[in-house]
Amino acid sequence: MAATETGRILVIEDEAALRQVLVTSLERHGHRVSTASDGRAGIESLRGGDFDVVLLDIGLPFVDGWRILETLEGRRQPSVIVISARGEETDKVRALDLGADDYLTKPFGADELLARVRAVLRRVRPAAEARQVIRCDDVVVDLGSRAVTRGGAEVRLSPTEYVLLAELARNAGRLMEQRTLLSRVWGPSYAGDRAYLRTFVNRLRRKLEADPADPRVIVTVGRQGYRFGPVPEVGAARG
Ligand code: CA
Repeated sequence: MAATETGRILVIEDEAALRQVLVTSLERHGHRVSTASDGRAGIESLRGGDFDVVLLDIGLPFVDGWRILETLEGRRQPSVIVISARGEETDKVRALDLGADDYLTKPFGADELLARVRAVLRRVRPAAEARQVIRCDDVVVDLGSRAVTRGGAEVRLSPTEYVLLAELARNAGRLMEQRTLLSRVWGPSYAGDRAYLRTFVNRLRRKLEADPADPRVIVTVGRQGYRFGPVPEVGAARG
């Protein structure tokens, strides 16, 4: 339903013309939009407001987008879509690694932007799911309440991190191919974009694994994909 796909959006962009275009197209599609025209104002807005999505430029006066990503780390986060003129793969990986959910290179069309915003909002508010609890070692994923704990302590995940983990956990013990994960979590047009998956798996491992270099919860399966937990034993006693 369209109503569930609108959200509160903060646009942090110093270029006035682009800012206005973004505001106009987002508002036309029912989003509530606030703006900040430099990095310092952006940080102020983030402190004071409650946003679902932040569109974040990298090249900004006073405080750049990289610094803003760093200040968001560890807090209850809005989903961040970086909008940048820098199209290098290393910039994209750096942004994802710092907690961004998506990366859009300028120039881009309004349709492309709106599609990305919708995709991020779907991850913020996914459809309700039956209560099902999946465990691996001391990590517990509750698909009903969307709670993740490790050793009994709450693990804070961004919406995209959670959706990826839930996709793996729901299929615990089974190989999930890279393309499948990319298209289910980010969307079909991302199926070949392994940088997203690699970066988000690393982010999850840092939060969930006792030793991220020797993962047991999110296991790499050759070059094909990933698996949540060990392979179930064939012929295990059924009680
Ligand atoms: Ca700029």
